[in-house]
Amino acid sequence: MITPQNAFEIILNNIHFLGVVTKPLNESMGYLLAEEIFTDRDLPPANRSAMDGFAVRAEDLAELSCTLRLIGEVPAGSPASQKVLSGTCIRVLTGAVIPPGADTVVIVEETEESGDNVTFLKPLKKGSNIRWQGEEARKGELLFECGMVLGAAQIGLCATVGKAELKVFSRPRIALLCTGKELRDASEPVQTHEIRNSNGPALLTALFEKGYATITNEVLPDVEDIISEKLGQAAEENDVIILTGGVSVGKYDFVPEAIKSIGATIHFNKVAMKPGKPFLYATMPDNLHIFALPGNPISVMTGFYEFVLPALNRLSGMAEEQCKPSAFIPISLEISSEKDRTIFVLAKIQWDSTGPKAVPLKSRGSADLTAGSRAHGVIVVPPDKGELQAGNVLEFRPWRSLP
Ligand code: AMP
Ligand code: MG
Repeated sequence: MITPQNAFEIILNNIHFLGVVTKPLNESMGYLLAEEIFTDRDLPPANRSAMDGFAVRAEDLAELSCTLRLIGEVPAGSPASQKVLSGTCIRVLTGAVIPPGADTVVIVEETEESGDNVTFLKPLKKGSNIRWQGEEARKGELLFECGMVLGAAQIGLCATVGKAELKVFSRPRIALLCTGKELRDASEPVQTHEIRNSNGPALLTALFEKGYATITNEVLPDVEDIISEKLGQAAEENDVIILTGGVSVGKYDFVPEAIKSIGATIHFNKVAMKPGKPFLYATMPDNLHIFALPGNPISVMTGFYEFVLPALNRLSGMAEEQCKPSAFIPISLEISSEKDRTIFVLAKIQWDSTGPKAVPLKSRGSADLTAGSRAHGVIVVPPDKGELQAGNVLEFRPWRSLP
C-alpha cells in the first residue's frame, strides 16, 4: 500500500494545467491570473484631495487666523483649471484634482465660511490632505504576477488600472457522482434502513467555497452498468470526476470495475491512511482525472482536502507549494501514532496565551460527521512516531478558515 505522500506525488505527476481563458473582470473571482498586471497610469493619476475642504497655498496661512477669498470649486470628476493665487482659495471635494498653485488642503471642519470669504482657524501642515500623484504606484509598475488568486481587492485593483478582462487559468469542469442504494436526498422521506446523502452537499459546498462548480451532480445506485454509463458520460463533459462510495471490496462496490470499464488507468486504489484507506485515483487521456473516495463522510472530507482539492488547485494553475494549504500547530493533548499508516485526527483550533493549539476531538470514527462538523480540520499524524506529547508541532490540514 502506498503512503499519502506517494499518492500525492503520483497525482501531481499526472496533472497539467488546463490552459488559459479570457474572462470578463467581474467573472474572474477565484481564478488564478495567467498574465502580469501593470499600472496603466500613475496611482493616483493626479494630486487629489483626500478630504472635503479648501485648496490653499500654505504660505498664505503662515499667520492665524487668516481669511482668504473663495474663487471657485472643484468637485470630484471635474478638471481643475483655475489657479489658486496668493490670497485666494478654492473649494475641493474628496477626490477632486488639486488646482494649480495650491499645495495644501484644509478640511472644512477647521474653517468658517462667510460669503466669499473663508477664515482658517487652525495651524496647518504644508502638503496635508493631498494624495499625491503616483504615491501608490507609478505608471508601468508591476502589480500582480501570474498565479495571483483573484479576490475582491485584486479584482478592484485590476479595474483601477483599466483591465476589463483578464487572462486566467481555466478551472476544471467537475462531475460529482455519489453512489449508494441507501442514499436519499435531504428533501425526501427516509426509512430506517436508508440514510441522507450528506457527501453530495458537503462536497458541493467544499468545492463552491474554493470557487469550483460542478457540471454534473448525481446520485447513483449500486449497479455496475449504471455507474459505468454515467461515468462514460461524465468523462466526455468534464476534466475531473469525483465519486463517493462503492470503492472498496464489498459485494456491491462496483466503482473500481466501472472505472476500468471506461478504459481509465488506475494508479492506485488504497492509501496507508485512516480514515479513507480505499481511495482510488485513475486517469484517462487528455488530462482527465478520476478520484473515487470511500463513502463514509469523514473519509470523504479527509480525502478531499488531502488529495482532490490540491489536484483541482494544480489543474487551475496554482503552484505546487500553494496547492495544499496547511498550518503547523502544537497539539494540546497526547496522540498515539499508528504503525505503518498516517492518521488524520479531527481537531478544533483553540487559542491560549501562548498561541493556537490543535485540540483533538472525540469521534466515533469515519462516519461521525457530527464530530466532523465541530472540527476546523485534521491533525496529520505520521506513522511510527510512538506517543506524540502535548506541545509537539504537527501539520494541520484546515477544512475551513481558522480562528
Ligand atoms: P461505502 O464506501 O459505499 O461502503 O460506504 C461506506 C459508508 O458510508 C456506508 O455506511 C454508507 O452508507 C455511507 N455513505 C456512502 N455514501 C454516502 C453519502 N453520500 N452520504 C452519507 N453517507 C454515505
Ligand atoms: Mg456503498
